[in-house]
Formats: sequence, structure tokens, C-alpha cells
Amino acid sequence: MSDHTPTPVRVRLAPSPTGLPHVGIIRNAIFNWLMARHYGGQFVFRLEDTDQARLVPGSAQALYDTLRWLGLDYDEGPDIGGPHAPYVQSERLDRYREVVDRLIAEGHAYQCFCSQERIQEVREARRQANIHPHGYDRHCRALSLEERNRRAAEGEAHVVRFATPLDGDTTFQDEVRGAITYANRELDDHVLLKSDGFPTYQLANVVDDHLMEITHVIRSEEWLPSTPRHVLTYRVLGWEPPKFVHPALLMGRDPQSGKISKFSKRHGAQFVREYEEQGYLTEALVNFLALLGWAPGGDREIMTREEMIQLFSLEGINPSPSVFDLEKLTWMNGVYIRSLSEAELVRRCLPFLQKAGLVSEAPGEVEQAYVTQVLKLEQERMKTLAEAPALTDFFFRDEPELDEAAVTKRLRQPQAGSVLDAVTRRLEAASTWDVEALEQAVNAASEELGVKKADVIHPTRVAATGRGVGPGLFETLWVLGRERVLARLRKARALAPA
Ligand code: GLU
Repeated sequence: MSDHTPTPVRVRLAPSPTGLPHVGIIRNAIFNWLMARHYGGQFVFRLEDTDQARLVPGSAQALYDTLRWLGLDYDEGPDIGGPHAPYVQSERLDRYREVVDRLIAEGHAYQCFCSQERIQEVREARRQANIHPHGYDRHCRALSLEERNRRAAEGEAHVVRFATPLDGDTTFQDEVRGAITYANRELDDHVLLKSDGFPTYQLANVVDDHLMEITHVIRSEEWLPSTPRHVLTYRVLGWEPPKFVHPALLMGRDPQSGKISKFSKRHGAQFVREYEEQGYLTEALVNFLALLGWAPGGDREIMTREEMIQLFSLEGINPSPSVFDLEKLTWMNGVYIRSLSEAELVRRCLPFLQKAGLVSEAPGEVEQAYVTQVLKLEQERMKTLAEAPALTDFFFRDEPELDEAAVTKRLRQPQAGSVLDAVTRRLEAASTWDVEALEQAVNAASEELGVKKADVIHPTRVAATGRGVGPGLFETLWVLGRERVLARLRKARALAPA
């Protein structure tokens, strides 16, 4: 492919602003973005807002924001302009009208005056009698051009339909699926222009891909059945179609039955920004989504953006279904969290800690340094940023929340009182408060009592943190600080038998 790929490569994301950006749209955005960046081409963002009834206010902005958040920068688009502006279809109606007029004049399209009721009835009757194609019966196609033009000029409500060839096949090449053939008799005369003067997706998509000089259309499998219609339109207009690539739909696996079905809420959050709230990193999301339907070869999984750009090729796109595995995303997120620098770790976790009320809105230097120490201790264990508050709250609260099971197991025990007394004494006596000194204090307490080190460590941990598990005890005590630790040990003493 690399040898024959025309330059410049121009690809596009053409979403409809009908809701919050879905995981599937972003996966397609990633493929298009990687394609553009790999070949040094352009990534175009076009808003397909011709279905006015389905518009959801705010969704265009949510798309721009989400692409920016993920670092999927586009070169041309509604909010940044470009040589083919406007990039919003509702602002390009004159272009579609012009093409429709040409198609009518050349006999490739016709006005249709049938009422909705009639079309419904015909559709139902044809479906029941299994007459192909199901759908519209081409009633108005038989009217003369003069009659159609006259009725339209008189203001009679109508749509414009494509005059699909009645026989023969339409074959096109999908870059990853190979040649695909549709029998024309299975295609009805689809609508190009609606009665409100807006084009349908089928028309606007073709006109804009042509005018915007798109070289590769990478879009999900659900659009495959529309492609023969597009190809027929390109042909009658004498336009060269772009290359088509249809990666497979996203699927999910049911946790109980193991059954695979179209990706839905049951398999993971639908909207990409939900992953932000759940504490997933953009690096992990982009890496994970890129692998849903694309394989770089070998068993490579964790890749930087630069590596993905370098390795991307259409050959690596897989036409068979890819399964969204939340566990894998979470694993990958943990890998990315572990690779964050100290400063980045703090920057990413801070909003979660602030939201939980553990850290102030504008932490000063001392607080910032404390947060850094705390997070470094938990970095290894954290799989999502959203876990940060639960993993670290005992560092921030005056009183740690007590895990009752741990208290029972480690503190409500005959030995616990003497262990806490000894360890408290040793810690009070420690001349410095560093990891080494703390370890020595614990060792000294275990020797004094003639018990195993673990028998000192466990009760001490529960007393100081309220819980039975956590990062290394000495590091934890060190970060918590002398005063906090001693106060907690003295308080916990009351929980142990006298
Ligand atoms: N507007 C379509 C969508 O919402 C675009 C499909 C295509 O890329 O052709 O996904």
C-alpha cells in the first residue's frame, strides 16, 4: 500500500452531531488520524448535520472538545476553517442542490411526489409479498421530466430520488475486505434530497468527499451497505471515488454467558468522556481503541503515539469483529499510570483528590509535596486515577477510616496491646524520621517482644492507616509523619485488649 498511496492522503471524520461522542466514533477518528499522520496527509473534520430532527445541541462542541482532549488534532474543520470551508453540511446546501439539479437534468435522479402514507403502504406490501427491492416502488420514475419539473415549479411537495440502475451489479473494492458486489435490483431508489431541501447522508457524503478531495474513506462497517449507492453516484457524476475501508463493528463479550454482541452499555461505558470520569488516561484510551480492529504486527500492544503513527497501515486493519475488553483497557491504563513522571502523576490525580475533598483547591508547596509523596507510594497499585482517593484517603484525613475486619484480625488480639506499646515507645525514641530509622524501630520492637517482624508490622499498619493492606509500611509511616503516626498509634491502643 505505502508504495501506491496517493499523496497527499486526505481522510476525514464525518460524524453527525446527534449526541455525545461514542467509543466507536473515536475508534474511527483514531484510524483516520493515524492514516493522515503516517502519510503526512490531512485529517479533515466534517459535521454531517443534515438530519435536522436528530440534532442534539452541544454535541458538535463535545466532539471538538473530545478530539482535542485525546490529542487527535485535525487540520481542517468547522471550528478551525480550511481551504474547503464550510465544514458543516447545513451550510453547504447550495452545493448539493447544484448536484441534484444536474442529476435530474441528466436523468439520474427524479422528483418524487408520493405521500408518506403511500410510501408506507407500498413498503409494507412489498415486504409482505417479498418483492425486491423492498421499499419504494419507483412510481414517480415513470413520470416525464416535463411533468415533474412543472409540478415541482408549482410548489408541490417532493423529494428527489436516485434512479438506481434496474439491473446489473455494482462492485467496488474495499481495501481490507476485497471486492464487494451488490446486485442493483436489491437497491431501491434512495432519497437524495428531502422535501425540506436538505440532502440525505447518501448525497451529501458523496458530494463533500469529492469536493473536499478525500482520498480514503475509513468508516465503520455499518456504512458498507451504503457504499454501492455512493459508488453509483460517483459514477454517474463522472467523479473518481475515494478508496473505501470498513473496519469491523465494535463488539462486546457478555461477562456471564461469554456471548459476543454489538458493543453496548453492558460491556463498558458508551461515551468516551465517561472514561475520563472513571480515571482512564488519554494515552491508554487511544492505544487501546487503536488496537480494536488494527494490529501493528507481532505482539506489540503498548505503543506511544509516535510508534503507532510509524507502524500504521491499512493492511493492519482487520475486517473481522474486534471485542472491547474493559479488563484489558484497565490493565493498559495501569501500565500507563506506572509510566507517568512524578509531576504528571500528580497533575492527573489531583482533580480526583480534590473532588473527594482530600486536597485543597489550590494546594501550596507543602501540600503539593505531601500529595506527591503519597501518590508515588500508590503509583504501582493504581489502575485508574479514580482509585486514587480510596487508595490514599488515610493519608489526608485526620482520622483514618477503620476497616473493621482488619481491626478485629490485627488489633483485637491478646498480643496487640504490648506490640503497640513497644512500637510506640521505639518510634517516640527514634532520633530521625526516615525509612531506615523506622525499620530499625520496628525491628527493635519485635526483638524486645520476641515476636516475628510481621506480628509487629500488621498491627502497626492497621493502627496507622486503618486498613490491612497498603504500600510498604516504613515508607507509609515516613510519609504520614511522626505526629500523625504517633497520635494514631496511641488512639488505636484503646482498641486492643488492656
Ligand atoms: N455521518 C456519518 C456518521 O455519523 C458518516 C459516515 C461516513 O463516514 O461516511 O457516522
